[in-house]
Amino acid sequence: MHYISTRGQGPALTFEQAMLTGLARDGGLYVPETVPTLTTDQIAAMAGQSYEQIAYTVMRPFIGETFTDDAFRGLIDAAYAGFGHAARAPLVQLAPNHFLLELFHGPTLAFKDFAMQIIGQMFQVSLRRSGQRITIVGATSGDTGSAAIEAFRGLDGVDVFILYPHGRVSEVQRRQMTTPVEANVHALAVDGDFDDCQAAVKDMFNDMAFRDAVGLAGVNSINWGRVLAQVVYYFSSAVSLGAPHRPVSFTVPTGNFGDIFAGYIARQMGLPIEQLVVATNQNDILHRTLQTGAYTKEGVTPTISPSMDIQVSSNFERVLFDAYGRDGAVVSQQMADLKNGGFEISQGAIGMLRDTFASGRASEAETSAAIKRYVADHGELLCPHSAVGAHVAEDHLGSVPMITLATAHPAKFPAAVEEATGMHPALPPRMADLFDRPERLTRVPNDVAALQSLIAERTSR
Ligand SMILES: *Cc1c(COP(=O)(O)O)cnc(C)c1O
Repeated sequence: MHYISTRGQGPALTFEQAMLTGLARDGGLYVPETVPTLTTDQIAAMAGQSYEQIAYTVMRPFIGETFTDDAFRGLIDAAYAGFGHAARAPLVQLAPNHFLLELFHGPTLAFKDFAMQIIGQMFQVSLRRSGQRITIVGATSGDTGSAAIEAFRGLDGVDVFILYPHGRVSEVQRRQMTTPVEANVHALAVDGDFDDCQAAVKDMFNDMAFRDAVGLAGVNSINWGRVLAQVVYYFSSAVSLGAPHRPVSFTVPTGNFGDIFAGYIARQMGLPIEQLVVATNQNDILHRTLQTGAYTKEGVTPTISPSMDIQVSSNFERVLFDAYGRDGAVVSQQMADLKNGGFEISQGAIGMLRDTFASGRASEAETSAAIKRYVADHGELLCPHSAVGAHVAEDHLGSVPMITLATAHPAKFPAAVEEATGMHPALPPRMADLFDRPERLTRVPNDVAALQSLIAERTSR
């Protein structure tokens, strides 16, 4: 099993190399050379299995020789042991034929834990084996950062630096990043927005001298290992509603396109998914792109669903690569055009994308109204991101069961939830003292050179 870059120039890598590298050296993203498929019998056999057993079946074909079967089973068990729910990703019913997949029972209360916890385990095994030291640098609009810090805090051989937009993450998100006491954790508050943070990380990865000097590794949603871990819950939830004998549809609150891309992979692996619906907030570049065929940047407007406040969706490049028949040169050219504002997608490619994805958007008012309506009419308190999903899903309900992904716990975004419902969502008891712990962070300018010297200095200890 080999991984190739979406820009056609980076070297083909093994699973382990692709996972440790993150972004390819040509600026592209790694994708499997071919996507393995599961037979109908293999999918049917998942009925009644534990989340961990399903995770093994789904992920094993992608990892090649990187881990032995036993080691891999051990990693999966360790990754999900800290979750607060025995089902890991339980499914609840919202309405006839509309279901909610609760992906917020991990240590930081958002779906990012599903990927990050196993990435932490896989990195640790790999680094122990090689004796290497690495520096993880990531950008976050809130949830990735807390999940990464939670997964890597205190691990040997790893420093973790997380860049987040100062003042633009919720207090719970910030405290989850700033309260861990381990010396290898560095929370950096950048004077800028999420796209500035993401651009700074990309620039650091494209600086080969810096990259090699500090042993840079990425765990942003572009990391193939993360996408892979997210494929699992598409299978576990679909099977519990009757797949592979009955198709299902999914609506996915979308920002960087990582989560929904995992659904696209699940479908390629053989899971019968009828509709894959991209749900955006008012930062709706993906919805606009599917409608107009032009991928054009606009400014980011802060919303009550901040983890989706982005204008450039990194993982979209992966599906664009497929839409262009895996022509890395075309993708490379379009990504260069993006630096100047945007690009037009060809007729053939936009046709493929429209056949593959449906889409919808929720305004701020619609999101708040959905939070309120789902408590009153469906007995579920949704976080704002999940509410964007539920709102958009309603336009796509049909004869096939619709599964909306609940990407975070409402207590992670208490202000928006309280504003919409008058109810204050409580943190689960296991993290009730979050507001009493001391915080530790560094304010930094939106300047790549300054960030690089800070990271170089702290990792030379
Ligand atoms: C990250 C995140 C999203 C968006 O997921 P992508 O994979 O970036 O599309 C949605 N909701 C929440 C709560 C998130 O943390």
